[in-house]
Amino acid sequence: MRKIIADYHIHSNYSPDSNSTIEEILETAREKRIEHIIITDHYELADSHFNVIDIETYRKEMEKYSLPVGVELGWDGIKELNIDTTKFDYVLLAHHYVEEPITQESYKNYLLRLLDIVKRFDSYHALAHLDFPRRYHPQREEFSKELYDIITEILKIVISNGKMLEVNVSPIKLYGEPNPSIDILKLYKSLGGRNITIGSDAHKLEDIGKGIEKGIEILSELGYNYILVLDTEWREVKIK
Ligand SMILES: [Zn+2]
Ligand SMILES: [Zn+2]
Repeated sequence: MRKIIADYHIHSNYSPDSNSTIEEILETAREKRIEHIIITDHYELADSHFNVIDIETYRKEMEKYSLPVGVELGWDGIKELNIDTTKFDYVLLAHHYVEEPITQESYKNYLLRLLDIVKRFDSYHALAHLDFPRRYHPQREEFSKELYDIITEILKIVISNGKMLEVNVSPIKLYGEPNPSIDILKLYKSLGGRNITIGSDAHKLEDIGKGIEKGIEILSELGYNYILVLDTEWREVKIK
């Protein structure tokens, strides 16, 4: 079995929507030969149900297993930002609020809120699953090219602030592309973006590492040569 470089988006039972223990995750990652993992549990500022991490306990747990301390920080851009993100080694900034029904119009509103968020908030490492609402569109319709001006603005801010873009491979099993889509990854590259992390968004043990190899293949075909991993510092790892 080939090695998998990294899975930097995994949920444990510190998230209300996962039952996996940290030990089980580590065991699964060993079995699947995943070299670098980060557990990124939900800390959703606008939803108390998804905001149950006691940060000190969580940090101690991750440190016990010599894992970087990761979090998927969900923000709607409205609720007060009362979290000290310096407590984490890897902050995945996520925007989860999607208007229904899911149409190009709700995609647009999602992007406008996301643009506002990245303009106002800078204390994160990677921007999670950029075209996230596509997962919930009945036909998984891609984001219209008319929305690419807004996407360009978002990506330019990510790049100029020195952030990373997450390639979230979980929708590959749904419609063959990651979040963000192949076209958006092309755009990121054309704007000079090169910093990429990759993650499965696994909420179950069986999904850990799933789709990462396909995601790496897509990146490689687009001309990306590296993804980033965190040891004591962030470093590039060659993907081909
Ligand atoms: Zn998410
Ligand atoms: Zn997630």
